[in-house]
Amino acid sequence: MNRCLALFSGGLDSILACRVIQAQGIDVQAVKFISPFFDYHLLANEAAYQAEIKEKFDINVRLCDISNDFLEMLAAPAHGYGKNFNPCVDCKILIISKAKEMMADLGASFLITGEVVGQRPMSQRKDTLRVIERDSYTDDILLRPLCAQSQKPTLVELNGIVDRDKLPRFSGRNRTPQMELAAKMGITDYPDPAGGCVLTEPQRSKRISALYQEDAKFRTPANIRFLFLGRQFRLPEGSWLCLGRDEAENDKLEAMALKDDIVMYMEERPGPVALLRYCQSETDKSLAASLVVCYGKKTSPPDQAGEVIIEQNKTSSSIVVNPITKIEAQDLIFAT
Ligand code: SF4
Repeated sequence: MNRCLALFSGGLDSILACRVIQAQGIDVQAVKFISPFFDYHLLANEAAYQAEIKEKFDINVRLCDISNDFLEMLAAPAHGYGKNFNPCVDCKILIISKAKEMMADLGASFLITGEVVGQRPMSQRKDTLRVIERDSYTDDILLRPLCAQSQKPTLVELNGIVDRDKLPRFSGRNRTPQMELAAKMGITDYPDPAGGCVLTEPQRSKRISALYQEDAKFRTPANIRFLFLGRQFRLPEGSWLCLGRDEAENDKLEAMALKDDIVMYMEERPGPVALLRYCQSETDKSLAASLVVCYGKKTSPPDQAGEVIIEQNKTSSSIVVNPITKIEAQDLIFAT
């Protein structure tokens, strides 16, 4: 049986692309690429995700973590960024290139994607689709089943493995035809089209962009996930501090502590949990504690000193510090 490798986002278009190819008697193995900017949480339980996709859509999917390559590409995408910090064209080139590398091991003879010409302004223009094929060296083997009829034929169509006349002819931003096809194929319970990529979100994009102005050593998956939480501060002697804004963030920060990270909090009054990373200085440590007190519950009379518990590598100590003012704190904010 012929087999193809499908790039699977989990959205309706990628589901349909897999299903219309399966309907032609071709075995489809799907791969979902993961980075700290999209779908990272799935890595915690790949088996559950695979079972869910198999049950809902009858698609075999596997995960592939491309965090390190993605983090490197994001520093200087050859085709630039979109409206925010989203390198959509280079992202597509990267994941299609990665999929191409996986083909031999998986016994696949071609690739498919759920792209639809004209659906997205940056990465799905007709000329951009050509650039993606060219720069991922997949000119002959990349089939886009949902809009193949408006593209030049690929090898599998020319060889008669895929009957292009039986494929849909979608284009543009109107999603009604896809929804109608889904209904016809009995596909329900698919996710909303709203993207799951934080690089298209203005606020978090700004934080990522700010991180990319800093030393490259900070660009790690753990730091990207850290960056999305709480109030972020950069302290004068190089430490990086995050203060939780609510209980949920406090819990996440505590759970996120790596070796050598410092966790701070007050026992005597409600306030943020702080996670201090890359701290090499007592000055920064004391300043971080002052920020914990500053953002803690107001005292009466105001601005009283607080005792801050400091935990690092399973040892615990405490210091009593005065809060710094919110105005002083503003100057240390790294990313809003
Ligand atoms: S929105 Fe994010 S995941 Fe989608 S193509 Fe752009 S960078 Fe890649």
